[in-house]
Amino acid sequence: MSHWRFDRAAVLGAGIAGLVTARVLSEHYDEVVVAERDVLPDRPGHRRFVPQSHHAHGLLSSGRRVLLGLFPGLSAELAAAGALTPGSGDPAMGDRSLFLVRGETTIRIPAWWSGGFGASRILIEHVIRARVRALPNVTVLERTPVTGLLTDRSRRRITGVRAAGEDLGADLVVDASGRNSPLPEWLERIGYRPPPQSVVHSDVRYVSVVTEPDSSFDPEWLAILGGQAESGSSVGGVVLRVEHGLLHISFGSIARSEPVPADLAGLRDFADRLTAPVVAEALRRSTPTGPIRTFRVRSNTRRHYDRAREMPDGILALGDAASAANPIYGQGMSVAALSAAALGRVLAVGDDAGFGRRAARAIAATSAEAWRLALGEDLRYRCRTEGVRSPWTTRFGEDYRNRLERAAALDPEVAAAFNDVLNLHRPLSSLASPRIIRRVLRPLRDRDPGPLSATVAAVLGAT
Ligand SMILES: Cc1cc2nc3c(=O)[nH]c(=O)nc-3n(C[C@H](O)[C@H](O)[C@H](O)COP(=O)(O)OP(=O)(O)OC[C@H]3O[C@@H](n4cnc5c(N)ncnc54)[C@H](O)[C@@H]3O)c2cc1C
Repeated sequence: MSHWRFDRAAVLGAGIAGLVTARVLSEHYDEVVVAERDVLPDRPGHRRFVPQSHHAHGLLSSGRRVLLGLFPGLSAELAAAGALTPGSGDPAMGDRSLFLVRGETTIRIPAWWSGGFGASRILIEHVIRARVRALPNVTVLERTPVTGLLTDRSRRRITGVRAAGEDLGADLVVDASGRNSPLPEWLERIGYRPPPQSVVHSDVRYVSVVTEPDSSFDPEWLAILGGQAESGSSVGGVVLRVEHGLLHISFGSIARSEPVPADLAGLRDFADRLTAPVVAEALRRSTPTGPIRTFRVRSNTRRHYDRAREMPDGILALGDAASAANPIYGQGMSVAALSAAALGRVLAVGDDAGFGRRAARAIAATSAEAWRLALGEDLRYRCRTEGVRSPWTTRFGEDYRNRLERAAALDPEVAAAFNDVLNLHRPLSSLASPRIIRRVLRPLRDRDPGPLSATVAAVLGAT
């Protein structure tokens, strides 16, 4: 708890970032108002302004950890709603794994250690929304579009927002309005330069379908992430087990790769050509429960509010509004949760001096690793960029990356290190430690990896 309390905070958007931020702010502000332009369903459901929920959303274990800390009992609630919850002793989980297929290489990671929940984004959002709505000092307003900022006379402090045609006063405004955030434009309108930004034109296309597996189909995996890189382009398929035994299957292509067909017969042919045969099997042995959905993300943007020359007080941005990396790496919900937690830590320090700058830096630091990781991959596919500094890790080189992935398939210690990075527990640089480099570069033959889950637990002390 902080030593100081404020009156009111306003949050723009009731997506994952907005909800988690509202939960964090509820400990520091007397009142938190979340303004959401969409209609909010009272059951798990898709929303008009969050079209990406039709596409498979995996939660990283770093994000899961934050969510469980902020919402104790979340696992049990998700399980009660039909989700699989690794790590909770759920007998339905058995020793299911997550399979990461990269070209010819398959890395098997025990699901209880690596991943989030066997739940769709709409279910996770629904359960969190209900928890946030139940907080006594939080109000979630639906059908309430925010159209601009309110300022004091000097324009040095934001004093609230214009929401659904009315003034909503607030001591702090947090923009969690997603990847098309209007904040840079609003800042310009009141005389500030928009923050510097980095843009990657990765042109990602998704084609997705939710299916019900045949009763005889009970695979040993919780999720398959089947990427397949070719020179300068990549296509892949993801299958996630979600609530009520359903499968959420998404196919994606990046950077001028061949388009993914958007009909079932075409999708089956496409899946047959992926190097992960389990993706095709999942599609063949299940029946769609709804239409096939498509989505295109042309570019990914990181807005550097921490580097803005001048910012008014009383305004922050987080989640996709601040840093929206290529979604195929499955980081967005986790980064949103980690950033909200970072904001909470800054608020808990309890000192107003330089709060805005410190909070913006803490939020940027939290999302930086995810951005670098996604950027490093995007650059492999020669995506066009603007204002982007290549991370030093791109110097790893293609050969080291390929060897690392092959080593991870056989060596549990490398698998654990790789998995830790993918789940945002450790920086990418940890894969360049002398110990990991030695293990990656030694000959791969004649190594008995042993039972993976036991070895991973031994190496990392994970429980
Ligand atoms: C195709 C695709 C696949 C993805 N897959 C994954 C994945 O596997 N794993 C993962 O973790 N993440 C994934 N993501 C990213 C993930 O969806 C987001 O990063 C994450 O949910 C955080 O988003 P957010 O809350 O910042 O924004 P959003 O989820 O976009 O929510 C923003 C909210 O703000 C509201 N809003 C916008 N403007 C206004 C306004 N002016 N006034 C009031 N309300 C407003 C919107 O209606 C919306 O409810 C994927 C994204 C895409 C596009």
